[in-house]
Formats: sequence, structure tokens, C-alpha cells
Amino acid sequence: MKDTTNTMFLKVKCADCGNSQTVFDRTNIKISCSVCGATLAIPKGGKAIIKGEVLGRLDTDLEQK
Ligand SMILES: [Zn+2]
Repeated sequence: MKDTTNTMFLKVKCADCGNSQTVFDRTNIKISCSVCGATLAIPKGGKAIIKGEVLGRLDTDLEQK
């Protein structure tokens, strides 16, 4: 079973330009869209608050395959 407290990667779509980008769930820095610079995630208490649209989750397990 997966621990839900595990860090994960999220696929986030920018609300401004539609660019989709992978965002780390536990970030200490603000994450900006690589295309238009809009804020996609801001850090709060060690966990990111996603400002864009979350398209899905990228499991770290899947990343390793
Ligand atoms: Zn954008």
C-alpha cells in the first residue's frame, strides 16, 4: 500500500496558457509556468498549493519503470 503522505508529482495545467507541467507536491519554492510565468504552485507548510488545474498524478513508482 502506498503511504498517502509520500511526496508525489502532479501534472498541472496552467490556467493562463494551457501549458501542462510536472509539479512536485512538496516544494519550498514557488513554481511558475515555464511558458508564461504564471504561478502554478506556492509552498505552504512544506506542501504545495496548486494554483492551476491538476490533470493527474505521476506516481514515483511509475516514473521508475
Ligand atoms: Zn502558462
